[in-house]
Amino acid sequence: MQTKLAPKIKSGKHAAAVEAILRKCVHCGFCNATCPTYQLRGDELDGPRGRIYQMKQYFEGEPANAEMLKHLDRCLTCRSCETTCPSGVQYSHLLEIGREAIEQELPRPAWDRWRRRLIVRFVNSGWLFKLSIRLGQLFAPLLPRRLREAVPPRQHLATRMGGEHPRKMLMLAGCVQPALAPNTNNKAVNLLDRFGIEVIELEQNLCCGAAAMHTSNAALGTEQIKRLIDAWWPHIEAGAEAIVVTATGCGVSVKDYARLLADDPAYADKATKVSALYRDLLEVVEAELAQAGQAPSPLRVAVHTPCTMQHGLGINGRVERLLEKHGYIICRVSDAHLCCGSAGTYSMLQPGLAAELRRNKQKALGGDEPDLIATANIGCQVHLAQGSPVPVKHWIELL
Ligand code: SF4
Ligand code: SF4
Repeated sequence: MQTKLAPKIKSGKHAAAVEAILRKCVHCGFCNATCPTYQLRGDELDGPRGRIYQMKQYFEGEPANAEMLKHLDRCLTCRSCETTCPSGVQYSHLLEIGREAIEQELPRPAWDRWRRRLIVRFVNSGWLFKLSIRLGQLFAPLLPRRLREAVPPRQHLATRMGGEHPRKMLMLAGCVQPALAPNTNNKAVNLLDRFGIEVIELEQNLCCGAAAMHTSNAALGTEQIKRLIDAWWPHIEAGAEAIVVTATGCGVSVKDYARLLADDPAYADKATKVSALYRDLLEVVEAELAQAGQAPSPLRVAVHTPCTMQHGLGINGRVERLLEKHGYIICRVSDAHLCCGSAGTYSMLQPGLAAELRRNKQKALGGDEPDLIATANIGCQVHLAQGSPVPVKHWIELL
């Protein structure tokens, strides 16, 4: 698309990126076909092409307005449109720049700013989040149905077997996963131990920065990223060979540190190293698991590949292959490219759309009558479990 950036954008640090991304878009609209919000609403303004066009108008000088922000906020940042786009338009990068610029010109109402801050503080709080989940599990029968369904049942804790080994890998604990599904990392530690890998999981409650970034708080997100890099750095210098992440939502964030801190003289090199060391758990397990060591299981599994895994990390179809290799029967899932509606903090900020997407996804996952659903991200796991007739687990729990 031809672009003529307004002086306020042309003089800013993102001018080159905005111009390059906008010029790539040929306005063909192929991306609309795979956009979950366009499919739900059928409104051009709620599809990627329309959102790009609204941002273009802003970048070319139209004043920021609440309508623009409303349609940008409805975007899940699932990046399905990027996978579909034949021109390689980096939509999510444009959205990040556009949303930040529009918000600076037209600040959100106070109630919206506060709820965003509260959500991030709550999910990052560690003890408070854990306590709330425990109380929710304890008093589940007394809770209203919607709240009861949102709290996953307490897991029977798997014993951690991890011992000392010369090979060492760092593992991100995550902020909500230890309270919601502690067995994901417990089972990952046990499996890596079998491969002769010692897992270093830091005790502090450190966030990857994704929740703050999703709620337009780049300053807090950047601060959290730097804190995490500082905590990991001594172990990286001591020879940790990889950083393993068991939730793809956090993984896609860690992989992006190199780009996010590229202009920071104190952290650019460290962030590049951290991003280079990042591995999704699946990549580590695939590489280490030389041969199938598990008896065939009669269970039928429907795999939900999170958007962060298929569109963000470019890993698709591999959880299915790994589980099939281990004897599971893999069910057919229609529209597997579509988001389940969890999308980080989206399910809390856009509950109506998120619930509609979940219903559609549960229907698609249940079409082949699975015994359980496997996924790779804690957000999707908890969101999809709400009202699901079959259990939803992280795939590592099946190995
Ligand atoms: S983002 Fe890509 S698919 Fe969508 S309209 Fe632009 S060029 Fe076409
Ligand atoms: S990121 Fe997802 S929701 Fe947003 S425009 Fe692209 S496909 Fe649609």
